[in-house]
Amino acid sequence: MSIAANISAIKQEAERANVKLIAVSKTKSAEEVLEAYEAGQRCFGENQVQELVEKHEKLPQDIEWHLVGHLQTNKVKLIAPFIKLIHSVDSLKLLQEINKQALKNKRVIDCLLQIYIADEDTKFGLGFDEAIELLRSEEFAELNNIRITGVMGIATNTENPKLLQEEFYELKTLFKGLKETFFRKEDSFKEISMGMSSDYKIAIEQGSTMIRVGSTIFGGR
Ligand SMILES: *Cc1c(COP(=O)(O)O)cnc(C)c1O
Repeated sequence: MSIAANISAIKQEAERANVKLIAVSKTKSAEEVLEAYEAGQRCFGENQVQELVEKHEKLPQDIEWHLVGHLQTNKVKLIAPFIKLIHSVDSLKLLQEINKQALKNKRVIDCLLQIYIADEDTKFGLGFDEAIELLRSEEFAELNNIRITGVMGIATNTENPKLLQEEFYELKTLFKGLKETFFRKEDSFKEISMGMSSDYKIAIEQGSTMIRVGSTIFGGR
């Protein structure tokens, strides 16, 4: 199927569940992104800063760019002027740098806390306790130019649906706990970014609000 056909099929599925589709275009050309754009997609995700910046410069300015991959503090300034949402915040230090660069750009940058849910030790993310400790800290309370709008997780790379269900359920449960404890009055804390090409259907069943889909739209990498 074409990129356009893939986009409209997945978009329909996402819209039916009230879930936002982030088209992950990493390693794909500007032309391929444009094909998705022309099929109506406006929201794209990248996992590398350099590639994200280049595509942002080249492509239509009404695209919403999301960073889904690991972010190094020294690269925050490159995306701070325009990034829509950073899905991959995994330390207070990184959050402090995002806050500093957001202030320089006179804006507030939306961020998700990346939570470690996988049964593998290769993935980035905060443990549940670390996320709570971060949100409780005095340093966090001082950050006025970032806004935490939810959580993100990457499940284990497995075909075992039961394990995937459990991991997504855990993330949803943590989200609810954080909402209750830290964000009860903040309507903006509402996102659970979970689900990729191989597991987005299960993620939607478990309460995802944003799916990050790459290869099912653009083909293999
Ligand atoms: C690459 C990537 C995706 C998309 O993966 P696909 O399996 O191609 O859908 C989603 N989230 C993150 C963090 C990624 O790096």
